[in-house]
Amino acid sequence: MGFEGKVVVVTGASRGIGREIALAFGRAGGNVACIATTDEGANRTAEAIGQGAKGYALDVSDSAAVDAVFAKIGEDMGTPAVLVNNAGITRDTLLMRMKDEDWDRVMDVNVKGAFLCIRAVSRAMMKARYGRIVNLSSVIGQHGGAGQANYAASKAGVIGLTMAVARELGSRGITCNAIAPGFIESDMTDSLPAEFREYVVKNAPAGRLGTGADVAAAVLFFASEEAAYITGQTLTVDGGLMI
Ligand code: NAP
Repeated sequence: MGFEGKVVVVTGASRGIGREIALAFGRAGGNVACIATTDEGANRTAEAIGQGAKGYALDVSDSAAVDAVFAKIGEDMGTPAVLVNNAGITRDTLLMRMKDEDWDRVMDVNVKGAFLCIRAVSRAMMKARYGRIVNLSSVIGQHGGAGQANYAASKAGVIGLTMAVARELGSRGITCNAIAPGFIESDMTDSLPAEFREYVVKNAPAGRLGTGADVAAAVLFFASEEAAYITGQTLTVDGGLMI
């Protein structure tokens, strides 16, 4: 699964799962465009990858900014062969306490952000008649989660988006798949109560929380040349927790 000379865009690359994905593509020879909300975060990962990598600051929910940054990536690095929509947020709270802005912000970043980035690369990928798009969903999008109505809806939305894009762009050599991670060590899961971690360790057949590297391995597979005949799929990476 080599990515030598391929331009790979990873959103949410400053920390957590996205950073691991970006580093894995860098090790596999890809020229990685690392996106995060700040230059500092984006450049931190790009510098860790080294040659061929560049950092870009972008709020993926800002339509005009997405178009501008993807145009810049095209000029600086060339047409992306791979887009990984990893940027995501939670604003967890019980339904009755959830404010409109909690709902809107999570939908804007998690679903609209993925849509905007896909739209921004689609023309160039169609012209190249090649592309690999991988979206980060979640087991919460497949099974729900109390206190996560906004996040669950957004991650279920990512699965619908994935299938629609797979159908629309498939004839142009472009695949679109999703990963549904379970509970992965990151800033997002740091705040989970200790009992919850214990539950995962006890109930997942793998006997542990996942790592960013566990997720990155699945992303690289979907992004590879070898996965050409797999599209519209969602792969669960949860150590077996939800079986
Ligand atoms: P994380 O540690 O909280 O990191 C989130 C990343 O997204 C950061 O790089 C952040 O950049 C970026 N980001 C947030 N809002 C953004 C925006 N508006 N525009 C651009 N970038 C933005 O999260 P994570 O745990 O690694 O999760 C990564 C993805 O996996 C998310 O889509 C998440 O929903 C999904 N996921 C995670 C788990 C898990 O257990 N951790 C499970 C299932 C699914 P800044 O540093 O600039 O803020």
